[in-house]
Amino acid sequence: MNYPEPRAFKVAPDNGDLQGASSTYEKRLVDLEGIYRDKEAFAALVATEGDRVVYAVQDYRPSFGEAELIFGTTWMAPGRVGDEFFMTRGHIHARADRPEIYHGQHGHGVMLMESPTGEIRTVEIRPDVVCYVPPFWIHRSVNVGHEDLVMTFTYPADAGQDYAVIAEAHGMRSLIVDDGHNGWREKANPDWISRSAEKIAAIHATASMA
Ligand code: MN
Repeated sequence: MNYPEPRAFKVAPDNGDLQGASSTYEKRLVDLEGIYRDKEAFAALVATEGDRVVYAVQDYRPSFGEAELIFGTTWMAPGRVGDEFFMTRGHIHARADRPEIYHGQHGHGVMLMESPTGEIRTVEIRPDVVCYVPPFWIHRSVNVGHEDLVMTFTYPADAGQDYAVIAEAHGMRSLIVDDGHNGWREKANPDWISRSAEKIAAIHATASMA
């Protein structure tokens, strides 16, 4: 057989540039309609700087088979919409039992995680922190610092992403907001709707799809 060729990829910790990446995408403010709770603050920011890039991803997607690992870098600007910090849209893996590893490279972030039943966990991300997102946890990264947040990530190539799981619940159960003292705090999201037993079972059922 033709074994896949080992390769090296160079990560620039300051801006997340991944030398050798095979795909890239970026999300601008206008693309993030609906994820922030303060609709007025969001509309005002979009009116003046809607084209501003909030986060960008560069990754390498191997082509040998589904048991491989996708890895890449994510870069996120510092900023806020109302009292919520800039954050990713967030997702659960379409095959929900697939885990993910994030490794801080630059800046100060929070990995916000929610189980299907609505338990919340947060892990602070710093350049010396590796965060393990276990199977079944919805995850979203948040830039709670004043600098760019850069992380690397690795997840199984067959994981996929389901973004609707957050939208259907009207957000995640906790918001990560400015604490008014140069830091962050967790605040309950009053809009959040708990998942039905049927919905939770449907998430669990994705684990046996492979
Ligand atoms: Mn993921």
